Parts: sequence; structure tokens; C-alpha cells
Amino acid sequence: MSGIIVIGGGIAGLSFALGLQQRGVSCRVYESAPKIGELGVGITLLPHAMREFIALGLEERLRAVAIENEESVFFNRHGQFIYREPRGRHAGYPFPELGIHRGKLHRILYEAARERLGPANVLIDHHCTGIEQDETGVTVFFKETSSGAGRAQVRGDVAVACDGINSIVRRKFYPDEQVAFAGINTWRGVTRRKPILTGRSYLRIGSVENGKMVIYPIIDAVDGEGNQLVNWMAEVRQANVEMNDWNKPGRMEDFAPIYQGWHFDWLDVPELIATADQILEYPMVDKDPVSQWTFGRITLMGDAAHPMYPRGSNGAAQGVIDARTLADLIAGTPDRRAALVAYQDARLEATARVVRTNREFPPDFINIKVDELTGGKPFGSIDDVISQEELRAISESYKRIAGFALDALKPPA
Ligand SMILES: Cc1cc2nc3c(=O)[nH]c(=O)nc-3n(C[C@H](O)[C@H](O)[C@H](O)COP(=O)(O)OP(=O)(O)OC[C@H]3O[C@@H](n4cnc5c(N)ncnc54)[C@H](O)[C@@H]3O)c2cc1C
Repeated sequence: MSGIIVIGGGIAGLSFALGLQQRGVSCRVYESAPKIGELGVGITLLPHAMREFIALGLEERLRAVAIENEESVFFNRHGQFIYREPRGRHAGYPFPELGIHRGKLHRILYEAARERLGPANVLIDHHCTGIEQDETGVTVFFKETSSGAGRAQVRGDVAVACDGINSIVRRKFYPDEQVAFAGINTWRGVTRRKPILTGRSYLRIGSVENGKMVIYPIIDAVDGEGNQLVNWMAEVRQANVEMNDWNKPGRMEDFAPIYQGWHFDWLDVPELIATADQILEYPMVDKDPVSQWTFGRITLMGDAAHPMYPRGSNGAAQGVIDARTLADLIAGTPDRRAALVAYQDARLEATARVVRTNREFPPDFINIKVDELTGGKPFGSIDDVISQEELRAISESYKRIAGFALDALKPPA
């Protein structure tokens, strides 16, 4: 019987495994993907996520392939400046804020886990199909993802489900639950182009009510011609729309017309879209917070526990905080079932607050507010619309709820 079974080797599962290994506790990870490729587009690692990755000894590897953000800047749909703030170390944090290709982040976690836990403890091509528990342990059922063939069942002491938003394990406890879709579809892409503004700027333009763009660079000097790989995400709320498919190739004609007039003197958005290397579509979905993650010897972690709208760069951050919290608790007590309960007590309400805030008052509430005040029309000066202090207060409120207010983040011990 192996000790701790980690179901899902994504950002949360691998971070949890690395955290356990660092504390001298063994585990085995079972990941569904038959091979590890560099899939997806960009992700932002905010300072509270970086605190956890630095504690896992991964800062150098991450920095080598990422871009350190200097600032976050907000514009309206006419390209007019609304608000700017410094980010990460540039704002006095003890940790940086990084923009990174999510495939590169995943590969770094996967390789570190294989090096430190040994390849036999980080298994791919294992798709969990079910789980049971009794007085003495858990039994997890797997099939080979690539062939569909059944695999031998695995016994363990406890199981931690890190199998993402469509978690099989969560479905066992919440069989009727559906993802919540509020009519916001997104299209995500990457484009090779010259740096925008500082080349270290995270941009939010427009508002989700009638077309929003989030743009940030994720790879520097991508081709020896001074270009960066720039990640972007178009978000549009439309009444009565169908939910986008997951990770399906996106069709430009489905969303590019919304941005057709967005030619600013500092950025041409239609050109950014038209010259993309790759476009994926994705629905903006989450799930209502639940009141229980821990069921005896089984618990949920990361997106399996608290899927949230990707509007505040916080899903992975919350997942890696879960991972460190449970690793600490397991290392600190011989009673693993008690550790799973204490983990739920420590993290459930804190993450539910982020899920709810991402629905109603995400950071881009700044843009929504300005749109409301101006009726979506151009303004003369932003100071005539709303003060910089009020805008800063919106931004600071989100950071506090999500756990990355400057005074809440301590330097590494
Ligand atoms: C468009 C978008 C942008 C985002 N941007 C950010 C951002 O900037 N910053 C941030 O912090 N977060 C961001 N997030 C959220 C972040 O991606 C997730 O919160 C994070 O990936 C969750 O990690 P996880 O390990 O819980 O789940 P996942 O990353 O989904 O990993 C789950 C893993 O489990 C595996 N798996 C699934 N089913 C099974 C099974 N049955 N058996 C075995 N294995 C299984 C999967 O293959 C996968 O490897 C974004 C999300 C989206 C959709």
C-alpha cells in the first residue's frame, strides 16, 4: 500500500508532491495525460504564488523562461489610460510577479517532481476512473489513458484529488453539480510582436460587458528579432450565447469583429489578433463554492476544490497555497485524516471568498466602473471621472481578499 495518492499532476498536484517530498513525506502522483507537452498559452504568477514556488526552490528555473512584470495598466476600449500601478518587486514585494507560458511552468514542475521523487512516483497515462474508501485506506481505480485499458487498482492511506475543474473525484461527492456559465466566452492566443509599452506591462483594456482584452508578454526575445511572445485573452459577455468548447481551436470571426475599431496609437488590437500563432477558445466557468472538500480519507485541492473565473490570475496561486498548507499539516501530524480536515478548515472559506469576488469584483472592476461612469464613451481626463485613489482602493481590496496585499506577504524565512 502506498501512502499518499495524488490524483492529477497539474499545477496543484505537482506542487503538493514537491512540498511533501521537501518535508520528508512520500507520495505518488498519477496523471492522466499520456505525455507531457507544452500546451496552452500564458499564465501570471502573482507574488503569493511565487512565494510558494520560491519555497520549493524553483525561482531560478521559472525566471529563466518567464518575464517579470513591472506594471499593471488599465485602459478603456478607446485606448485611453485609466490607472497604473507597479507590480511584484517593483511595488516593494519580496517576491516577483511573472508572466510565463503555462506549458513551460508545467514542464518545470513535472521535471522537478521526477528528479526529486523519482520517475516511479510521478506516473503519466493514469486516468482515474473511480475511488472508494474503507476503515483502513482508499482504493483508486485507473485506466491507461492512451489505450483505454484498465490498470491495477491502487491502495493508499489517503488520496488528494488534484484533477482539475472537471474532477472525477469531486463528481463522486457532488454528482449533480454542473459548471456555472454566466455567458462570458473567452478566446486566448499568442502573437509574436515587438514589446508593448515597457515590454513588462500587464494590460487590461475595455470591459467584459462589451469586449475586454487582457494582454501580457510571456517570452522575451522569442526569435532573435526583438520580438516577444505576447499572450492575450479576449473576454466577451453576450446574452443567450452558447458556452464555448474547452481548448478548441478558436475561430477569429467569432470575436475579432468586436475589436475591429481598436486601433490605438500605442497598440493595434486587430493586428494583434490577426497575427496570432494560435487561438484557443474557452468558456469562463466556475462552480459554486461547496461546504466540504474532505470526506474521510479523501480531499479535493486546486481547481477540483475551488474552480474560479480566470479574472484575477488567482486559480493556480490558490492551488499552490492549498498544496503548501496540506503538506505542512500532513508533515506535522501522524493522523492524516485529521490533517485533511484541518486543511479544509484552513482553506475552504478563504478560497470561496476569491471565487465569489472573481464573479463580482475582480481587478477589472476598475474598467467596468469607468465604463458605467462614462457610458462607455471617451472621456476628457480620467480625473474628471474618478480619482486615482478610488481606483487604487478597488485594486487593493482584491489583493487583500486574494491574499496578496503587500503587508500580508512576508519575505522567505
Ligand atoms: C484562461 C485561463 C487563464 C488562467 N490564468 C491564470 C493566471 O494567470 N494565474 C493563475 O494563478 N491561475 C490562472 N488560471 C487558473 C489556473 O490555470 C488553474 O487554477 C490551475 O491550473 C489549477 O491547477 P490544478 O492543478 O488544480 O488543475 P489543472 O491545472 O487543471 O490540472 C489538473 C490535472 O489533472 C489531470 N487530470 C484530470 N482528470 C484526471 C483523472 N481523471 N485522472 C488523473 N489525472 C487527471 C489533468 O490532466 C491535469 O494535469 C487560469 C485559468 C484559465 C482557464
